[in-house]
Amino acid sequence: MFKRDHTKLICDVGEITDLFHDAVSMEEFLQKITAMVTRHMDCEVCSIYLYDANHRELVLKATTGLNPGSVNKVRMKIGEGLTGLALKERRPICEGQAKNNPNFRFFSGIGEEKFESFLAVPILRGNVEVGVMVIQSEKKDYFASEDIQVFRAITAQLATTIETARVLIMLNDKKEKAPAVLPKDLKFIRGRCGAEGVALATTAVIGESATDLLHYGTGDKRYSEADLHRAITATERQLEKLQIKLEETLPDMTGLIFNAQVLMLKDKGFMDSIFHLVKAGINPPSAVAEVVNDYVSKFSRIEDSYLREKIYDVKDVGRRLLENLTGREQKHGDYQDKIVIASELFPSDALKLFSQRTKGIILLSGGAASHVAILARSLNIPLVVVHEGALLSLAPSVEVLLDASMGYVYIDPDPLIKAKVLQREELDLNIDSLKKMIRERPQTRDGVVVKLMANINLLGDLKAANEFKADGVGLYRSEFPFMIRNNFPSEQEQYLIYRRLVEGMPGKEITLRTLDIGGDKVLSYTQHSREGNPFLGMRSIRLSLKHPDVFIAQLRAMLLAGAGRRVRILFPMISSLDEFLQAKAMVQECVQQLETEGKEFAVNPPLGVMVELPSTVEIINDMAQEADFLSIGTNDLVQYMLAVDRTNDQVAALYLPHHPAVLRALKKVVEAGLKYGREVSICGDMANDPKYLGLLLGLGLRCFSMDARYLPRMHEQLRQLSVKECEKLTQKILAQSQISRIAQLLESGGGV
Ligand code: PEP
Ligand code: MG
Repeated sequence: MFKRDHTKLICDVGEITDLFHDAVSMEEFLQKITAMVTRHMDCEVCSIYLYDANHRELVLKATTGLNPGSVNKVRMKIGEGLTGLALKERRPICEGQAKNNPNFRFFSGIGEEKFESFLAVPILRGNVEVGVMVIQSEKKDYFASEDIQVFRAITAQLATTIETARVLIMLNDKKEKAPAVLPKDLKFIRGRCGAEGVALATTAVIGESATDLLHYGTGDKRYSEADLHRAITATERQLEKLQIKLEETLPDMTGLIFNAQVLMLKDKGFMDSIFHLVKAGINPPSAVAEVVNDYVSKFSRIEDSYLREKIYDVKDVGRRLLENLTGREQKHGDYQDKIVIASELFPSDALKLFSQRTKGIILLSGGAASHVAILARSLNIPLVVVHEGALLSLAPSVEVLLDASMGYVYIDPDPLIKAKVLQREELDLNIDSLKKMIRERPQTRDGVVVKLMANINLLGDLKAANEFKADGVGLYRSEFPFMIRNNFPSEQEQYLIYRRLVEGMPGKEITLRTLDIGGDKVLSYTQHSREGNPFLGMRSIRLSLKHPDVFIAQLRAMLLAGAGRRVRILFPMISSLDEFLQAKAMVQECVQQLETEGKEFAVNPPLGVMVELPSTVEIINDMAQEADFLSIGTNDLVQYMLAVDRTNDQVAALYLPHHPAVLRALKKVVEAGLKYGREVSICGDMANDPKYLGLLLGLGLRCFSMDARYLPRMHEQLRQLSVKECEKLTQKILAQSQISRIAQLLESGGGV
């Protein structure tokens, strides 16, 4: 029965502020709230459960009236028990005799037995689930409807404050190791393929172990200062050797991966700190571990997530030093031979992981078309994007099978599944059978010759491109070498990379795309990474035009590397004719400079426009008159036409290259190319996807550029298609205005 004066029941702001001031921790603050609420609501129990999004659980964080020992121990899923139900259904749950409700869940040891009346109200801040606040009373049928109103009002009033407390508590909790709470029966997760392949290994979570400290067991053996000097020299040699070894696979990046570590060894502050401790009598291995740990914790305190890389470097160098000092083997990197699980990764992280010989990646955010995925493909690291946040708490000893080609993750897989997946992968990777699919000239069943080119992200991709007889490079993503450096690479550095690329495919046409930085490709050394909406910000050609010095250095390097070769220059993310003309004028300026300097360079390279924005599609005829060729970047075109972030897996279902708007745009571009005699190629991931090949041929596309690994499959598929039939299918598809109808036609093959 309602018997309280509810005008006084809503807590006043001063009262809450006092609680904040007095509390020495967030937990104590929540505890004080529960005491205050029991007083206001005139009941015996008030408990606060906070929602832990990582584990998707409610956790009891404070209580007045129940057993205080249950705090942090009582955990429930959304929907579990009356408390979980309140959050699931986002409504108050009020019971006069809670135990009679079939949803009631008894937790032993919590001390709930004697309480009859129960009222739970979800704590929400907008759409954010913060937790649940519960009050209980020994009396039956104690809470009346007015009580529900008042309790809701109090909860709403406290939501923002409790949310702040929750964030702070979770931050602190992260420092302790989260218990493994992945549901025991969770054996299989379906995600999306980011980079094909298969991996079988135990896992390591990025972010957690990155801040773990370096350990050196207190061995009895004493080492001298001379031992330390020897270890430093040995480490330097080792790093040099590693650089040379990796050079073969990552000629455009390798040096830089280890440069940071070599620099650590040269860093006076770092080395002096170690020697200072040694001189003070500390055994050198302990001195190394102590200084490394000090640096790791300094770096971990820095907000900027790009600086995370520094933690890897410091730890890596520390491990090597310890190994060379003590002769005891250290594991090189936390991620060696592991399947890495990460909430977020940057493309440069993928390179680091490659250098640590990581076997696979499970990414909890980011789309399959993100650049981390694109790079992972070049590095041959299987990658799957999934949504199971609880994976972050997977025990490190559990074996995981990543069937990335299918987008599947098997936890502690059954031996039969393991054998089957591994066997299939072996077949898929059989290079000889792949080579057999390649023909001298890729053509359709009815004899239409098609140009199949390769996208090159890293110079290492050239091997497969040559092996599978690519007709040239349709897209070289020049930004990747920029991403791992600490500053823009010089003209000479770029020249060396581009020259290797051009020489890597003698006689073939090489399309060099200028910098496409921004969006999900961030440089740690520019400010634009802090943009609120980077895909709509200072990205790509905008950045190049804003920094003429950087642009000119790149264009000069491209022109010089193209001397005597067939190079084309392609500008990304062009949104207007003006932009293209400005870029063209910059090329002219470089040409004049090089002429004056008497250098040899590519005299008249064709200049192309990447068609990636709806605005460019609208003015495609004007563009086609000015540009020498057009290259359709469907990854971005789909993103910008449909307003669907290509890196956001939450909206991946809306990322549909076969949306009628996209298809009509493609048609328009192909027609403009035909009208003005310009080659139109397609270089986005749509070109990789066998599902779209018939449609694209039917639209009139005859030039495709894709990751080299897909070339054999494309040769094979082309051979089965007839352009005439494809055109019929495309006609039918273009006549549709609904995505679902188009999907059906594609699914059925439309008779092709
Ligand atoms: C595209 O947008 O389709 C493209 C090829 O460029 P990138 O994926 O590098 O943005
Ligand atoms: Mg693009």
